[in-house]
Amino acid sequence: MTQAKTRPWNFSAGPSVLPVPVLEQAAAEMLDWHGCGMSVMEMSHRGKQFVQICDEAEADLRTLLGVTDDYAVMFMQGGATAENAIVPLNLIGRRGAPVADYVLTGHWSRRSHKEANRYGDAQVAAASDAATVLDGREQAPWTWVPPVSDWHVRPDASYLHLCSNETIGGVEFMDWPEPAALGAPEVPLVVDASSHFLSRPMDVSRVGMMYAGAQKNAGPAGVTVVIIRRDLLGHALPICPTAFDYANVAAESSRYNTPPTYAIYVAGLVYKWLLGQGGLAAIETANRAKADLLYGFLDGSSFYRNPIHAPVRSRMNVPFVLADAAQDAAFLAGAEAAGLTQLKGHKSVGGMRASIYNALPLAGVEALVQYLKEFERTHG
Ligand SMILES: *Cc1c(COP(=O)(O)O)cnc(C)c1O
Repeated sequence: MTQAKTRPWNFSAGPSVLPVPVLEQAAAEMLDWHGCGMSVMEMSHRGKQFVQICDEAEADLRTLLGVTDDYAVMFMQGGATAENAIVPLNLIGRRGAPVADYVLTGHWSRRSHKEANRYGDAQVAAASDAATVLDGREQAPWTWVPPVSDWHVRPDASYLHLCSNETIGGVEFMDWPEPAALGAPEVPLVVDASSHFLSRPMDVSRVGMMYAGAQKNAGPAGVTVVIIRRDLLGHALPICPTAFDYANVAAESSRYNTPPTYAIYVAGLVYKWLLGQGGLAAIETANRAKADLLYGFLDGSSFYRNPIHAPVRSRMNVPFVLADAAQDAAFLAGAEAAGLTQLKGHKSVGGMRASIYNALPLAGVEALVQYLKEFERTHG
């Protein structure tokens, strides 16, 4: 084997950093899971070992989030992108006419909306697509969240979709709206929570369903978590693939067909790691400390700038720009040399982005702030 390089501080938006103890345990169990003489990758998805792994992952996830039995918890494939289609395929026709509403706050919610229009009439309930003034400051499009009182939800919509953490833009809903606040009690909320899933306690009882690709904050690529209220099952459009019909997947405890067994296993290790950290309230405290440190530094500097309306700044994905974009390349090269990797922003917004997920410790953010200071001192 080659000598392992020192682990860099990894700010990737996804696939992203995993907890070291999780990687160590997966490595230790690679050839022999719990004395059965096999790797998890080699097991039947219907054998008793994998059934135990999968059921434990589900149980731990329910414990972390406080999910009641009114909801099914499923491990699926295809990522959040596939859910953009699977959601309407399952839900858009549940009340007759295929009608659903979408709140647009950035790249990912726009992608979801666009896909839904292939299956029905998906309208925009609210969008931050224009500049506005908030708290006396000019906010550019996609850097703020329209207030719930301005959302126009059609009473006959099958659901209302939003993305509660825009991974690229860095806009986060600090809370999911209460159903009563939407003025349309029959319309369940459907949330893409991919990039802040398990970053803090979340009140699942406020949503009809939520989904999250694991590779952002909660595991390796290949598995998507879906949590759905059971009364929403069983309304799929006739064209919905049977493997993507939530009712089938839920009835078979995520094993309707072969699930992504190894990814579920590693995600399960992440859930156990989170429980060991003290659960979601404890990880929220740690995430707040990291975000406060980074935003506090950016706000105190005139060399760097984060454009997001302060109350909805994501604690997971922190985009920022340098005063002079001509220095971006030097910034990134210097960061790599200092052991800080994957800081380049998404091409649609430019600049930089630091994703500071659960598994990135405070020391990583401290190292980033140290580098930001040093770069400003030598290039400012
Ligand atoms: C990454 C991401 C997606 C797309 O995930 P895939 O796994 O690539 O399909 C969708 N929504 C959000 C919020 C994301 O962060």
